[in-house]
Amino acid sequence: MEKDKQRLLDERYMRMAVIWAENSYCVRRKVGALIVKDKMIISDGYNGTPSGFENICEDENNETKPYVLHAEANAITKVACSHNSSMGATMYVTSSPCIECAKLIIQAGIKRVVYCQKYRRSDGASLLERAGIEVVYLDIDVIYNE
Ligand SMILES: [Zn+2]
Repeated sequence: MEKDKQRLLDERYMRMAVIWAENSYCVRRKVGALIVKDKMIISDGYNGTPSGFENICEDENNETKPYVLHAEANAITKVACSHNSSMGATMYVTSSPCIECAKLIIQAGIKRVVYCQKYRRSDGASLLERAGIEVVYLDIDVIYNE
């Protein structure tokens, strides 16, 4: 029963993260992330350039600019600017984290990561598991059809 409740919550937060990804002005890929603690959304993020920079993620060759922040990094750094703590929180992210974001997630004290789209590399998810973080994959089709 508890398991089902958690599953329902996971699916709902994941749908919210998918909607949040729509905020991204990146053309190549839009990623959304939410950080949830004690059933409260304490932070959110989507991939994009740092505050104050132009809202364009790709250069003239359609390559992602090197200073574009990933959704996970934006969500974690937003907590750093707040009075909240991500210690023990769950992150919902629409795509499996890359290795750079995985390092940030570990250091931010996040204990669970739920994602719904597999990224081309899985080294980020493997690193999270090595750090004892629970990694949950929710199929994007399932979260819209249950
Ligand atoms: Zn990343």
